[in-house]
Amino acid sequence: MSENFDVIVVGAGPGGYVAAIRCAQLGFNTVCIDSQVNPQGRASLGGTCLNVGCIPSKALLDSSEQYHRLSHQFPKHGITAENISVDIGQMQARKRNIVNGLTGGIAQLFKANKVVSIHGFAKVISEHTVTVTNDNGQLVQTLSATHIILAPGSVPIELPSIPFDHRSVVDSTGALNFEQVPKRLGVIGAGVIGLELGSVWNRLGADVVILEAMDEFLMAADHQVAREAARQFKKQGLDIRLGAMVDTVDVGQDGVSLTYRQKDTTATEAVDSVIVAVGRRPATDGLLSPDCGVSTDARGFIEVDTDCRTAVDNIWAIGDAVRGPMLAHKSAEEGVAVAERIAGSAGHVNFHTVPWVIYTAPEIAWAGYTEKELKAQQREYKTGSFPFAATGRAKAMEEAQGFVKLIADKHTDRVLGVHMVGPHVSELIGECVLAMEFHASSEDIARTIHAHPTLSEAVHEAALAVDKRAIHKFG
Ligand code: FAD
Ligand code: AMP
Repeated sequence: MSENFDVIVVGAGPGGYVAAIRCAQLGFNTVCIDSQVNPQGRASLGGTCLNVGCIPSKALLDSSEQYHRLSHQFPKHGITAENISVDIGQMQARKRNIVNGLTGGIAQLFKANKVVSIHGFAKVISEHTVTVTNDNGQLVQTLSATHIILAPGSVPIELPSIPFDHRSVVDSTGALNFEQVPKRLGVIGAGVIGLELGSVWNRLGADVVILEAMDEFLMAADHQVAREAARQFKKQGLDIRLGAMVDTVDVGQDGVSLTYRQKDTTATEAVDSVIVAVGRRPATDGLLSPDCGVSTDARGFIEVDTDCRTAVDNIWAIGDAVRGPMLAHKSAEEGVAVAERIAGSAGHVNFHTVPWVIYTAPEIAWAGYTEKELKAQQREYKTGSFPFAATGRAKAMEEAQGFVKLIADKHTDRVLGVHMVGPHVSELIGECVLAMEFHASSEDIARTIHAHPTLSEAVHEAALAVDKRAIHKFG
């Protein structure tokens, strides 16, 4: 069977499904091909994000946070509970329900928008042709289209010396599916995924050691934010060891032995399970026929220009499989922009204002430049910061750790970056992204009324602090 479409989208993660819906909204006859299956072997739309990424991790982060608060913070509110217990089975069932609801929701959105959905593995054969094979590798369809959008996403990196056995040595997907709390858990890599999943199991009672090869903690974040986060994580019992390069793991009868190098010494660590969270790589294996014209770099990323156009004019690529941050919202924005470019309008993605969030407790969020980046650019700037400990709302919530730091251009006062660690900063960063998108000055934020008492007052006060006129702090 051969069918002709205006647009073929490969991948139904946040990049692909959003691109497909936007294409359909713009009047294009659109098909979306996706190969993801759920643990029951059934097709499941939504990609990494909905199936094994953002959503299930946030479901477990929330459950584990509730448990941790109940046992650690509620007594401060005068609430005590006895015989608190955790039912991991129920926690996992809740997570699966959320995932099933949301992935099913994408199927409904496709139907409502008349996006044709095909389950299978897509391969680009030529400029306009894509083949689809089924789960057994048999060719089932050949499709053609005027435009092709590639959104195959990414998969966890497996280190050759530390192969996954999917029981004791697992990737992020395995770490989302533990059916019991490991007594002692090793995490390799203190990136976003390692910290989030390490936090989940730490809050549920595991003894967690995180081994990170780099000497600096959270290198991409603001240095004061990273320092405060490290302090809070230590207080929670997360044992984060920096400059610790894991070379091998040995899986034995009684657990796993991790061998790592730190400075000039070699050490071992005995754990029950290991999460390998050393990054992700583009899922481009088998996607491109060698003569289709689309090129990949040495690491497998599809090469694109700033507009997400590949070396072939009518083939586009977006999301985790191309340069830039591996974040769901970045993929989705690229998907919208490409659909609009295909329709002849000016698709727009402002890479400078992509927000970064780490959903630990406290949360970490930032957008724009760090001081380190501005120093490297020799750009003059001023900063203002404000601690949550000085906001009534954070105090009332018993969550008064962390701060907001705002960076503005020294001469124009334009907001260049905002960095936060503290309660619900994943929500507060939205205001700052909007401000930067509108080229706001710190004075604009300082003159904007923020409701009292809210956490957003910390953003307001940080903006006032840029001009040394914060009201609720000394100095
Ligand atoms: P994906 O979501 O990976 O989707 C690609 C889809 O394409 C998949 O369904 C795949 O099966 C399919 N596919 C691949 N090749 C083919 C082919 N040849 N034919 C057909 N189908 C194909 N990001 C955030 O922004 N916030 C978070 O909180 C967050 N948390 C995360 C937590 C975890 C544990 C993980 C692993 C990731 C997290 N991420 C988070 C990252 C986020 O999941 C990705 O950035 C996002 O999913 C990328 O979207 P995408 O559409 O580019 O690719
Ligand atoms: P991210 O890319 O944000 O997911 O983070 C992955 C982290 O894993 C990075 O900070 C890497 O430095 C770290 N990492 C990679 N390989 C190793 C290793 N063998 N041992 C310890 N840490 C590692």
